[in-house]
Amino acid sequence: MLNKIISEQSIQKAKKLIDKYDKIIIVTHTSPDGDALGSSLALYHFLMEYGKQVNIVVPNEFPEFLQWLPGTDQIIIAEKYPSLAAEALDAAELIFFLDFNALKRIEQLEPLVRKSSAHKILIDHHLDPEDFCEITISHPDICSTGELIFRFICRMGLFDFIDQPCAECIYTGMMTDTGGFTYNSNSPAIYYVISELLNKGIDKDAIHSRIYCNYSERKIRMQGFVLYNKMKILREYKTSLITLTYDEHQRFRSQKGDTEGFVNIPLSIKNVVFSAFIREEKEVVRISFRSKRNFPTNQFAREVFGGGGHLNASGGEFYGKLSDAVRVFEEALPRYKHLLI
Ligand code: 5GP
Ligand code: MN
Repeated sequence: MLNKIISEQSIQKAKKLIDKYDKIIIVTHTSPDGDALGSSLALYHFLMEYGKQVNIVVPNEFPEFLQWLPGTDQIIIAEKYPSLAAEALDAAELIFFLDFNALKRIEQLEPLVRKSSAHKILIDHHLDPEDFCEITISHPDICSTGELIFRFICRMGLFDFIDQPCAECIYTGMMTDTGGFTYNSNSPAIYYVISELLNKGIDKDAIHSRIYCNYSERKIRMQGFVLYNKMKILREYKTSLITLTYDEHQRFRSQKGDTEGFVNIPLSIKNVVFSAFIREEKEVVRISFRSKRNFPTNQFAREVFGGGGHLNASGGEFYGKLSDAVRVFEEALPRYKHLLI
């Protein structure tokens, strides 16, 4: 049995709203990752099984390697279909927000959500959730929003409505947010949930393969280039820094998601504790951080770049030149040297 981490009051209130309203929208964050899409699709499959009319709205495209997830063909991508997304949000009676803690993470959808009179429920595992929902289910100690969706459904007494596609999506969220159960993954509850998902018929080996052995040749070639030419090891700070310009990105005809995971690779080097990946996009410089052990990348992201995230995985944005972002990063490192152990 799982311990009850979600409050009884939140469960009762949420169940009432689900039972009362039929038009339900699920919204997740910009550039959705495996947990954002996995948890959203898991909730989608559950609610469809439960007899609701459900739509998922995401701000922009999701990466190709997540396309296989059951139900992706039903997702409304707001960047591509803005009026469809606006109509769906306008008609919503109940909106779930999954895997993010602040409305700025849904970019152009923020004003639509603010003006919506629908009931709102947040289910997330990032620190410091903004207060914009009548029910906030926020548990930063839980590895993934996927696991929270499993707990949420079970606590409502609706385990039987978890079908195999729902279980596959939950597992994908849990697996991708823990790097294939290699970090943030020591909680025994995770393995209890997995055993229940296996009983629902998931093939966990196949899911692993679909996510981690499904890359394009283009991505793997760019990875080779990046590791050989663009990775700098700052030994004094046990830090790795990878930078990528917009032109380099274009040279490999890189697509959305092609750089995903690059930031994790330097952590496999002995003595590297902190890994940074700073890349130039069209209008912004995007920053990703990962760490081993207790180095607080989220504190670094927040204090240096106004970003945030989890202890071992965080990020931020920089409006300016790539070279300036790199300078700010390198100048900040000495202040964190005592934590880089
Ligand atoms: P990624 O490196 O995969 O883009 O992001 C890792 C984690 O960092 C995300 O799950 C998210 O929690 C956090 N994160 C990334 N970018 C930002 C940002 O700009 N602001 C905040 N607050 N968190 C971010
Ligand atoms: Mn997540």
